[in-house]
Amino acid sequence: MKAFPFFSLTRVTRILAAAGAFAAILLPVMPARADGLPDLGEAARAELSAQMERKIGESIMNDIRLHEPGYIDDPEVSDYLNYLGHRLVAASSDSTGNFHFFAIQDGSINAFAMFGGFIGVNSGTILTAQSESELAGVLAHEVAHVTQNHLVRQISNQKQMTLPSILAMLAGVLAARSNSSAAAAGIMGAQAAVVQSQLAFTREYEREADRVGYQMLQRAGFDVRGMTDFFERLQRAGRLYESNAPVYLRSHPLTIERLSDMQNRAQSSAYRQIVNSMDFEFVRAKLRAMQDLPHEAVAGFARRLEEKKYTSLAATRYGLAVAHMRARNAAAAQKEIEAVQKLRAASAMVSSLAAEIRAALGDSSGAQNIYSEALRRYPRAKGLVYGCARLLHSLRQYDQALRFVSAQLQANSSDSNLHEIQAKIYAAQGKRLLQHRALAEFYALRGLLNLAVEQLLFAQQATDGNFYEQSVVDARLRELRALRVEDEKLRKSGGF
Ligand SMILES: [Zn+2]
Repeated sequence: MKAFPFFSLTRVTRILAAAGAFAAILLPVMPARADGLPDLGEAARAELSAQMERKIGESIMNDIRLHEPGYIDDPEVSDYLNYLGHRLVAASSDSTGNFHFFAIQDGSINAFAMFGGFIGVNSGTILTAQSESELAGVLAHEVAHVTQNHLVRQISNQKQMTLPSILAMLAGVLAARSNSSAAAAGIMGAQAAVVQSQLAFTREYEREADRVGYQMLQRAGFDVRGMTDFFERLQRAGRLYESNAPVYLRSHPLTIERLSDMQNRAQSSAYRQIVNSMDFEFVRAKLRAMQDLPHEAVAGFARRLEEKKYTSLAATRYGLAVAHMRARNAAAAQKEIEAVQKLRAASAMVSSLAAEIRAALGDSSGAQNIYSEALRRYPRAKGLVYGCARLLHSLRQYDQALRFVSAQLQANSSDSNLHEIQAKIYAAQGKRLLQHRALAEFYALRGLLNLAVEQLLFAQQATDGNFYEQSVVDARLRELRALRVEDEKLRKSGGF
């Protein structure tokens, strides 16, 4: 596990800035309550917060992508979490809501909801869950915090809205690390104190999130006992490590009432056996294979196979193949992936790894065949899409690579990774204007407007574009500059 500071200073400043802007926008429209304190009208809250919340959430999310070393930038883990999460969202009262799920490489149990529907979950949670329904239970609880507007309600219920309290909520209690720097420890101390002082609200919200999450779990077709099982295990863990209870328990206090509510609800529902999806097993194996040093991961999976300690043979062999690839032993990985394929465990993840192994063995046409066949079956699997595009780029088949990436971008123009790959292909072809334009889109989508504008200025200076391409660059530059001015206004209105 890597040690890293909880917050960088810039991150704290940015979160504070976002909090300031948020407070400034919300406060002036609050009508006075009987006790003279400002109150939020339902309509005003709905109208203002949706847009602001998303903006704050996006800004924190971009920060996490940029500065959080534990952020798992893996298209397959992300695809799986978003598939699972959106199954729950579809079963919620807010099925049109904007949600994004992501994972953090951290062995401790935690999950958190941030403004704007961004929901994070530690790899430790995914590995601790003993069934897909358990993981779905944790996610459903977080989705419920968002659909029930708990973050905004918590702010508007505050008699005194203090910056540290907003900071704690905005950060979503991201994960208090035991081994972080002294400066970060100070921030955590303040945050822990604030969380403590909000327990009264939080307990009520916790029970609401359980109840609403339970309904989602049930409607989405999961085993509702998953939620109870997971929280019971968490409570036992909390008792064991009292002084160092899982971070999750600090942000989501687990009371006897909560547990008995959950048990009562679960008892009244009919028993149903739900089989884990193969991707649940594969994602767990991949996360486990990404932990530790490569040779340790190889040894760990080999031992599991030998001792037959697994719930899925295919996933364990898949994990061993991933570990072998990390240890740069493509031949051994090939043997394992063939064994997985013989077990008829079909998944985009298996095809994607099989293609990677082929390419590593020097059989690039074999790899290309696997990609095109798998993409027909799983056209939206990001692991396959990026893998295929990168392979074509590395094989210097630039025209084919560009056609492929452009077709993908037509279906999903907000995929920043595709813009980045496109920029690399243009760079390899020596097309300067197009390279800078593609890179500008990559930065803009990551919320880095200054860098995006800079790239467009480079594109303007490039002499290899035609008149049409130049005017597209000019128009885009005007748009991004206007966006930047808007952002600046927002920040200033927060007093920062
Ligand atoms: Zn909670």
